[in-house]
Amino acid sequence: MPKPILKIALDVPLDRLFDYLSGGVAVQIGQRVLVPFGRRNQIGIVVGVADSSEFAIEKLKSITQAFTDEQPLDAQLLSLVKFSADYYQYPFGQALLAALPARLRQIAPAVSRKQFAYQLTDLGQQADVELITKRQRVLRSVLAALQMSNQLTEAELDTISSTARKAAKALVGLGYAKSKQVLAVQRVPAILATPEPQLNDEQMQAVASITKDIHAFRAWLLHGITGSGKTEVYIRLMQHILQEADSQTNTYQNPSFQNHGAQILVLVPEINLTPQLEARFRARLPQFTLVSLHSSLSESERLHHWQLAQSGTAQIIIGTRLSIFTPLPHLKLIIIDEEHDSSYKQQDSMRYHARDVALVRAKRLNIPVVLGSATPALESWYNAVGNQAQSDKNQANKYGLLSLKQRAVAAAQLPQIDCIDTTKVNLQHGLTPQLIAALRLRLARKEQSLFFINRRGYSPVLLCSACHWIASCTRCSSKLVVHLGQKRLRCHHCGHEQKIPNQCPSCGDADLHPTGHGTQRLEQTLAQLLPTARIARVDRDSISRKHALVDILDRVHNQEIDILVGTQMLAKGHDFPNLTLVGVIDTDNALYSPDFRASERLFAQLMQVAGRAGRADKAGQVIIQTQFPDHALFNALRRQDYESYANDLLQEREQVQFPPYVFVALLRAEANDYALVQQFLQFAFEQARSLSNEVLVYDPVRPQMERLKGMERGHVLMQASHRPALQKLLSHLVSKIRSQAIAAKVRWAVDVNPLEF
Ligand code: ADP
Ligand code: ZN
Ligand code: ZN
Repeated sequence: MPKPILKIALDVPLDRLFDYLSGGVAVQIGQRVLVPFGRRNQIGIVVGVADSSEFAIEKLKSITQAFTDEQPLDAQLLSLVKFSADYYQYPFGQALLAALPARLRQIAPAVSRKQFAYQLTDLGQQADVELITKRQRVLRSVLAALQMSNQLTEAELDTISSTARKAAKALVGLGYAKSKQVLAVQRVPAILATPEPQLNDEQMQAVASITKDIHAFRAWLLHGITGSGKTEVYIRLMQHILQEADSQTNTYQNPSFQNHGAQILVLVPEINLTPQLEARFRARLPQFTLVSLHSSLSESERLHHWQLAQSGTAQIIIGTRLSIFTPLPHLKLIIIDEEHDSSYKQQDSMRYHARDVALVRAKRLNIPVVLGSATPALESWYNAVGNQAQSDKNQANKYGLLSLKQRAVAAAQLPQIDCIDTTKVNLQHGLTPQLIAALRLRLARKEQSLFFINRRGYSPVLLCSACHWIASCTRCSSKLVVHLGQKRLRCHHCGHEQKIPNQCPSCGDADLHPTGHGTQRLEQTLAQLLPTARIARVDRDSISRKHALVDILDRVHNQEIDILVGTQMLAKGHDFPNLTLVGVIDTDNALYSPDFRASERLFAQLMQVAGRAGRADKAGQVIIQTQFPDHALFNALRRQDYESYANDLLQEREQVQFPPYVFVALLRAEANDYALVQQFLQFAFEQARSLSNEVLVYDPVRPQMERLKGMERGHVLMQASHRPALQKLLSHLVSKIRSQAIAAKVRWAVDVNPLEF
């Protein structure tokens, strides 16, 4: 018999698998192993078994250890990661290891938190509770409880009686029950189940459409304004699927141990949002096991949650982008909340987009995927409606479109949005009289206000009024931001810091001016204008501790804060019933940014912040200060008309042939010395040109941010009207590049469907 050769994926920057001998250990595909590599041992994953190798068998080494106590990764997951690695032109081994919890990348067996679970034998199933004497009260209760449910864990037994575990063991002794070890499920303090609202017509329509085809692949775009009840739609879908699965497995005929037949993955953009959603889901779906997966969990918590997902124990999994690569044996539905959010795109190593991977995963499993947003990504909108002006029949209806146009709580009206022309009024510390008056009114009425400004620090520019010198970062092509509290200048790109100079380093003049507003300055200005107001600031500087945001939000809810000043951190998800005014300043530069996605993003952000005003029964108002009140973006925003703005943007994109009308990829490169970057990109450019005539390859250029963290940057843009042509070119190009010596002298990466240029 030929020796089995193990094909092993390792975390090394080479796009290939490595051959090892099993050394007599029975190893399964998906198993985690330790192998000798170079002079040390490395963790690897067995992804295949073969009976031959391109290398001489005698030269192959044996694996050092196999972690056979751990459940192997399933084939579905391996193939999803493989597909993604190929699609995003990234080494499979690195992609696979990066998808695992940190504990599984360490050289040690993964410890799992276990507990015993009890299940009845046939004998126990038929036993008559009445035959047990009344004095053995606990034994009777445990037997009765087991007869009514599939199994009971130790934690569940504890809720019956403090001696219930002993009783369960006694049942095992009698031959009535058997026990086995399962993963421990955390006991989450019981939350009062909240009542179920009556769905409105639009919500009902959405739920009905999706459930009609709930066991087949379909992508749904749930487009609903903020507060329209999208989350409620998610909850109904989850209930539908989980209850259906429960009714099928919770029978004596099918006593599958700890094996609920359905899992639902809910992706959320940021860890800030998971606690709220988690609390809402727990309150409404208390009978199901829910875990979260995000970066603020401890390593051991993350591993434990991941194992609960992998074993099928957790039925609801809420996670940030990486959780799209969690093994989920019973996955039946994927929900992506705030699907337009750019945090779904990974910006380094494998530059995947969790939404796109989710679509692939759902298609392969033949399950639905629901994308929810008030302001869908233009790509998603295009897939749902096509270009209406061109009645583009190919694209329209690729996704099912479901719209929620009304706020769910009857009394909650959409806020009124006013744009104030800053060129026509006298500004007081950068604020218009209208905005100041509106603020005073809110204070008098004891209502709350929110100020949105997308820039932290005191002011974005330090300017010499004599010679126009501007403080800039030596390591990046960017200006240094003034942080007055700490008397420092800081680069927000690389973290570089220095003291604020006393005089201009260029001409010696002492007249250095902080110019423009950041959150700190706005906070200070408001405190001067409105000395009685209680003001809180929310940005990355003020929210460094894990619970600082929660504390501030609690204070807002307890009416201990009148005015909140903050960045986009505040824009999402939070629901403040007494907040009736939103002020927006200094967003104009996004209107004319060279980044073609800037206006799409600004519109989404402003719709989000506007959605914070008037969530309950009080009417809300939004005041935006701008030099361009008649800009198309503001016109659409005033009407809160995402559709018309999205359709306008689509037309523009079609005219200039930008995504989603074409498919693009960037080859990015950086080095200390731009000459190396140039040499590398020139090589790649010439190769790409010669490899395909279907793909348009642009000359190497420098991005807007030419220098970042001391590295000189450049890129080559490739564009095609068909995705396969682009993918084919990329894989040829990447293997050409890998074989070149120059590739080792620069840092390079392929970015498929880049969000930033
Ligand atoms: P979204 O996710 O679209 O922002 P939510 O699901 O959070 O909206 O709903 C906004 C508010 O309306 C929540 O307080 C929610 O409990 C409530 N709500 C949702 N659907 C209904 C309904 N059908 N009837 C009454 N209240 C509802
Ligand atoms: Zn000067
Ligand atoms: Zn810098």
